[in-house]
Amino acid sequence: MSEDTIFSKIVRGEAPADIVYRDDRVTAFRDIQPQAPTHILIIPNKAIPTVNDVTTDDEAMLGHLFVVAAKLAQEEGIAEDGYRLIVNCNHDGGQVVFHLHMHLLGGRPIGRMVQRV
Ligand code: AMP
Repeated sequence: MSEDTIFSKIVRGEAPADIVYRDDRVTAFRDIQPQAPTHILIIPNKAIPTVNDVTTDDEAMLGHLFVVAAKLAQEEGIAEDGYRLIVNCNHDGGQVVFHLHMHLLGGRPIGRMVQRV
């Protein structure tokens, strides 16, 4: 069984969040430390720790994350100028919360795809 995270608590309504969208498969809420004028996290209601843990059973739900991202980008008024969708995985990917999530970032030029360090 996967570890319970703050995101699972948000899905269950046990932790506060600025929820902008919710249905039976996904929940979307504003990032608590926004990196851009629009910074929304779109997460499966089901607790999947990382991309490494997805299965073929998750394919429809994972596609739905993109449909919700596109809808929210329209609502945020950033669809035409553009935005970035990010899914981090494990340590080298910079993942901090181990409940799979998609970042929707926009409202300013986001810059290079990845930073060279
Ligand atoms: P990641 O590095 O991809 O795991 O990103 C985790 C994101 O979750 C970070 O951008 C955090 O600012 C955000 N975050 C952590 N806790 C919360 C919370 N309680 N509500 C909203 N966003 C959160």
